[in-house]
Amino acid sequence: MFRTPVLLVTASLLAAPAFSQTPIRITADLTDAPRKLYHAEIDLPVKPGPASFTTPEWIPGNHRPTGPAEDITGVVFTANGKTIPWRRDDTDLYQFHVDIPQGVTTLHVHLDCIVLARISDKLAVLEWEKLMLYPANTPVRNIPIQPSVKVPAGWGIGTALQPVGSYDPNAKVGGTTQFEPTTVEQLEDSPVITGEYFHEFALAPEISPKHYLDVVSDDPKDSELNPKTIAAANNLVREASTAYASHHYHVYHFLLTLSDIAGGEGLEHGQSSDNGVQEKGYAQPGLAIYNGELLPHEFTHSWNGKYRRPDTLYQTDFHKMQQGELLWVYEGMTQYMGNVLAARSGFVTTAQYRDLLAASAANLDNKPGREWRSTDDTAIAASILRGGNPAWANWKRGQDYYQEGELLWLDADTLIRQLTDDKKSLTDFLQIFLVKGGNTGQLIVTYNRQELIDDLNQVVKYDWAKFLHDRVDLINPRADLEGITRGGYKLVYQDHPSDTERMAGGGRRAAGPNVWYSLGLRISAEGVISDVRWGGPADQAKLAPGQRLVAINGRTFTADRMREAIEEAKTSKEPIHFLMLTEDYIKPVDIDYHDGQRYPVLVRDNSQKDYLDEITKPLTTPEKVPAEKKQD
Ligand SMILES: [Zn+2]
Repeated sequence: MFRTPVLLVTASLLAAPAFSQTPIRITADLTDAPRKLYHAEIDLPVKPGPASFTTPEWIPGNHRPTGPAEDITGVVFTANGKTIPWRRDDTDLYQFHVDIPQGVTTLHVHLDCIVLARISDKLAVLEWEKLMLYPANTPVRNIPIQPSVKVPAGWGIGTALQPVGSYDPNAKVGGTTQFEPTTVEQLEDSPVITGEYFHEFALAPEISPKHYLDVVSDDPKDSELNPKTIAAANNLVREASTAYASHHYHVYHFLLTLSDIAGGEGLEHGQSSDNGVQEKGYAQPGLAIYNGELLPHEFTHSWNGKYRRPDTLYQTDFHKMQQGELLWVYEGMTQYMGNVLAARSGFVTTAQYRDLLAASAANLDNKPGREWRSTDDTAIAASILRGGNPAWANWKRGQDYYQEGELLWLDADTLIRQLTDDKKSLTDFLQIFLVKGGNTGQLIVTYNRQELIDDLNQVVKYDWAKFLHDRVDLINPRADLEGITRGGYKLVYQDHPSDTERMAGGGRRAAGPNVWYSLGLRISAEGVISDVRWGGPADQAKLAPGQRLVAINGRTFTADRMREAIEEAKTSKEPIHFLMLTEDYIKPVDIDYHDGQRYPVLVRDNSQKDYLDEITKPLTTPEKVPAEKKQD
């Protein structure tokens, strides 16, 4: 209550303006998508004199400067039929300077973008930073723009943009579709998917506003989706609407591509999400577990990340650095709730939820980089930690604020339950933090750490400042396993992988044997080492990323022989003997390891209440998700 006045001011400042100015008009031409080219025709309202235009640099949700300036090509400015010269800014390479002649009120720009990802012969995804050009040094929420999209004949379009007039995406007519004017800020937040094999499903029709699942695929059968995935998606809309008790959009579209060519994606937007999985990403049971969290995670972001945005992450244009400090909330709490909602909705079972949590917690608890780097630093440094080479990644740490945040918010959830004798939970916090302003349209309302502390204290009085400080800011050599312990489980290591690890691992391409918690190696099925656990047995034997294990105990390397050798070493004093290929040198290496195979799993501790099962119980009556055939 005490925050409301501040928030209302913030909200009104950030609301979309009325369109008194002439909007920019942009037509995105995706008809050359199969040739890996997008084109744009842009009409910019201008006045005579010097003017500067820009393409976006810092893309919201990417947490780093990924605007594709280097792929934008064929840029030509014209006015009244004449070409206008341009010059790129010397220090800001995203900016173009032009001198607008007298008498010119509209500047036309043609540009192309070379697009190598999220595209195949049958489908295309447009994130607008690939084509947008707009006045530089202007808050993007103040720039009106009217988009149109041209796609190949017979392709359907999925987007949260509002079509002008009636539009039936399932009619799949192709051609040009015009959309209502919006702002540059919102257009950047409104991707488009299009494809020959397109299907739109209306989800949970009793809930307002409307929710849709728009699917494109390389194989026509896949865009039909299976009944299990559709039931889980319906459940997800109901579960999130109940857990978050508000909506901050006029309509929501899950945009989903099923393609081995277009590549993976998970990018949040306020009214939609851009989700990319494998061609059989939901048809193959192992992959479906692996992908179970994707839609719940990206949907959660509409509340946590898009509506509620860390104050230093939000910037008024796409040129200022988006600061990562609070990403353990933006991503970490979304990681927690994404996995919880995946279980509540039926994308995964509760047993699978626990197995995935065990895998994530064990990974963090065996990450030596935490001896020098705090969770806070993984968030601050987010823009230099995404992607990158896996070599020594465990010593460097990556964007650990996702999984660290998951454990932290599980810790908070179980703590709230315990402190309040089960009368309250993190849901009570979410229904304060995510619901301020009630139901809104598209809006960005910023927050800082103090607001989190105040809102947690509204749920239950506790030293939340210290709770967050201890877990986020301090160096913690061990992961925060308190939530798992308080949740009624223990993280232990057993000699065989969990069913979930076996299924999810088997679903993914060339996953090698998991010897991370035994030998301390990440290896492919062919024995190529991608990472060596700092301080682990393989590190002590001086193995290195990039090397390849070619032989084990005198025989050619295979995953099965690796597992057998680790088993046999349990009762032997002999080290395990390897032949190692380093570039083009072969040398013998011994690893002196005798503790057997180790795979993480959660086991029930009956002395504690089973909060984990409590947490993953649906809040609504679930639509029955058809059982899967058991897979070996
Ligand atoms: Zn995310």
